[in-house]
Amino acid sequence: MDYQRLAQILFPDITRTIEDYELLYPPRQLPEGAMVTRIGPSPTGFIHLGNLYNALIGERLARQSQGVFFLRIEDTDAKREVPGAVEIILDALGFFGVVFDEGATIQGDKGAYGPYRQRLRKEIYQTVAKKLVEQGLAYPCFATEEELATMRQKQIEQKLNFGYYGVWATYRNTNLEEIERRLQQGQSYVLRFRSQGNPEHSVKVLDGIRGELELQENYQDFVLLKSDGIPTYHFAHVVDDHFMRTTHVVRGEEWLATAPMHVQVFDALGWNRPIYCHSAQLMKMDGEIKRKLSKRKDPELALAYYQQEGYVPAAIWEYLLTVLNSNFEEWRLANPKANIMDFPFSLEKMSTSGALFDLLKLNDISKEVILNMSAQEIYTQLLLWAKNYDPSFAALLESDAGYAQRIIDVGRQGERPRKDLICWRQARDFLSFYYDETFTIEDSLPANITDALRKEIITKYLATLDYNDTQEQWFAKVKTICQDLGFALQAKKYQKNPQDYPGSIVDLSNTIRMALSGRLNSPDLWQISMILGKDRCIRRLKQFAENGDNFASTPA
Ligand code: GLU
Repeated sequence: MDYQRLAQILFPDITRTIEDYELLYPPRQLPEGAMVTRIGPSPTGFIHLGNLYNALIGERLARQSQGVFFLRIEDTDAKREVPGAVEIILDALGFFGVVFDEGATIQGDKGAYGPYRQRLRKEIYQTVAKKLVEQGLAYPCFATEEELATMRQKQIEQKLNFGYYGVWATYRNTNLEEIERRLQQGQSYVLRFRSQGNPEHSVKVLDGIRGELELQENYQDFVLLKSDGIPTYHFAHVVDDHFMRTTHVVRGEEWLATAPMHVQVFDALGWNRPIYCHSAQLMKMDGEIKRKLSKRKDPELALAYYQQEGYVPAAIWEYLLTVLNSNFEEWRLANPKANIMDFPFSLEKMSTSGALFDLLKLNDISKEVILNMSAQEIYTQLLLWAKNYDPSFAALLESDAGYAQRIIDVGRQGERPRKDLICWRQARDFLSFYYDETFTIEDSLPANITDALRKEIITKYLATLDYNDTQEQWFAKVKTICQDLGFALQAKKYQKNPQDYPGSIVDLSNTIRMALSGRLNSPDLWQISMILGKDRCIRRLKQFAENGDNFASTPA
């Protein structure tokens, strides 16, 4: 077979050669040991934790070794693409503070190894494909959908391995005349790799996380170019990571099974293989069962979830590092204030079995991270979140930045600082009562506090309330009201003999708390009274005395 001629017939318009591209994309001039890494998300509109997880690995490896980390948009599957998906990817990763040295950006591509969107690289793939045809390592396959379905059916019946190989590879030895005849008829074809592999043989694949793996050699004549000339993932990965000079291919473990196909193409072309780093699947505990995170069942798989809820990106990094490197927590204990970027991340400390993702643990870390932020930092991030997700709340925050920072700081000092904030959505709910515009009565008083008692408590409280009092004087007055109304001064006493009292001091202060905050749980009553200020407190107290739970929000 005249492969040169076949190559010319299949790719008449390809005039460049692989050598041209070798010159165009020369080996990178980087310090010894520098790693070149990338992520290759597909623009499907759904960007998930797995993408961020791999980005974090790639980013750390490149950054720590003074290498390069880039973003490649893997858009070979036009059917799955949604408009605006590249923006979604950039926005989500940007939110998490992932910074690329090169790659696709909103303004276009940045870097000397582009284009960084696969559909713009068609000519490069075809140049490499042409070379493989010239070497007799690729051939056109005209099999129709029906032919392939029949083949599969027979393989099922005969209990054979699926796929296009051996006797099943019917177009593998089609002669040139026949190929030309079919092409003249305008028959569509895919370009297949002519695998030299043997299923009895194994191939060694170097994995930076898992060590040297021995896998079954690929024996399938898999598709390199689809009928529209666009490559499959398998081919695009090899071509791109070669010409983009990737040294470490960080990708999900779902690609492990097809790695033998990839190394076969690298070898066939005489190219150096990259080091693969197949990261473990993200799993979660669902009751007693450990399972993969699922797009359908687990909203926390989507990066958009963390943006919408208003998680602090630093907390997610912190958490993902605990999942990624088994020694991170120990390092954090020893270096509580250190910058996360100073942690020596390593592939050796990565787990190879499924990585367990635990939202509760992430939430604990988030609380800690928020606790360590200043009120000013919280204000800035909360406002940014609110501008996107709750503009009316953002307007309230902006209307008086000083007030906003004071309410943010309530209960965050002292020996046992309040540590309940996980994300900005929660902060918004938490802070809503400080603003008349969002204040509502959310809880109900316990049954022992009758309407009459409620009115009496608040009337007495209002009568003695003096904003010049110290906290001690104020509390002494609360106790006096307690005694006057026959309430137990200790909750325990009331619990033991409820028939002897209308309630305890807890019920009494909760009545005032409900008036001021609309909730049974709030930060310290004295503190919130001071922050809300005299006029607002008196107004709310009167309103609560009057209406109790039947509160209709009436902004001042
Ligand atoms: N587009 C592939 C994916 O989204 C990228 C895999 C890789 O990084 O090589 O899974």
